[in-house]
Amino acid sequence: MRAVLADLSVPRYLLSAVPATRRAARMLSLRDDVPEPALPDAPGWLLLRPELAGICGSDVAVARARSSVVLSAFYAARRQILGHEIVAVDDATGDRFALDPVISCVHRGFDPCRSCRDGHPYVCERFDQPGVTGCQSPTQGFDAALGGGWGEYVVAHRSQLHPVGATPSRRAVLAEPASIALHAALRWRRTGDRAVVIGPGTIGLLTVAALRRLHPGLDITVIGPGAQRESTGADRALDSGPHVVEQLAELHGGRVIRPRLTRTPILEQGVDVVFDCVGYPQTIDVALHLLRPTGMMVLVGGAGRQRVDWSLVWNRQLTVQGTVNSGPEESLGGRTTMAQIVEWLADPAYPVDGVVTHTFGLPEWRTGLDTAAAGPRAGAVKVALRPNPDLPLVA
Ligand SMILES: [Zn+2]
Repeated sequence: MRAVLADLSVPRYLLSAVPATRRAARMLSLRDDVPEPALPDAPGWLLLRPELAGICGSDVAVARARSSVVLSAFYAARRQILGHEIVAVDDATGDRFALDPVISCVHRGFDPCRSCRDGHPYVCERFDQPGVTGCQSPTQGFDAALGGGWGEYVVAHRSQLHPVGATPSRRAVLAEPASIALHAALRWRRTGDRAVVIGPGTIGLLTVAALRRLHPGLDITVIGPGAQRESTGADRALDSGPHVVEQLAELHGGRVIRPRLTRTPILEQGVDVVFDCVGYPQTIDVALHLLRPTGMMVLVGGAGRQRVDWSLVWNRQLTVQGTVNSGPEESLGGRTTMAQIVEWLADPAYPVDGVVTHTFGLPEWRTGLDTAAAGPRAGAVKVALRPNPDLPLVA
């Protein structure tokens, strides 16, 4: 089959001499001779054809050899077909599905681990063990074994599939990142009336949309560069930088306290929760300075090694909550995040129509990757690839 295959056996020391933007050319290539993914020897598996597959920040990180070295423990596959944000078609029935890419004990054919037993398969303790799937990663799209969204075929278990009916392709392809965003939004048990979301990329905008749906009266500020940031329901958008502390103090009648030796002031009467959907040292720093005592910082999505002064976590007894992936939600009565999101995506009032800004065929994968990496500089939020041009997109 045709797929963009990533060969990660290229040693890191060879890549370190190559600028990050040119590393994809060393590791990724479009090929017509990639073996179709095999159905695992267990019931309930299907072969599907991706209609549209998103390019995630984590895909860009793989292509540029910038993934976390710690997390390489869980992403051991040397041959990967990237793409885990997938809407796919079952040719036998014509049914369309959003695919939940998390592969946990139940899929691998194991007795459930402690996390899976507790209803948290998104932090399964056997993410590195292939079992019957052959997949050596927490989710699909980081191992060629089950295929990925950037190829003509993908294999998925029935329990991973959420029917999307006639939901437009450009909305349905958001099911996975929107589930990450809703799962993140649900980590915060509402304790106040003011939230900040840092990063107006896909995850940030979808976090705003989820918060707005969960908490209609919540005051939401989104921080960061980008034109479309208010379209998903924020009350206001502010440009990034330490000045946001003064701006929020003015808006909400708060007070700023200035440390003698650093640039960023601390906000008194600060906000109740900050969702940092970027995770850079500057954004974590601003988040910590914006929070009221006992507030919560939710770190959504990617991982990394960041040099940050964490003093305010101790001093103001903040909670730092990391989150990625999704699954059964206690606060949704045990329903999965994606089941809820697929329902919201089918509702035209769920304001996410502008999030997919670009689609490209597989032959244009390099342009797609560069556009996704450039983000606001290219006018891009979510960029998606279309691996099967014969499958019509649903408008
Ligand atoms: Zn497990």
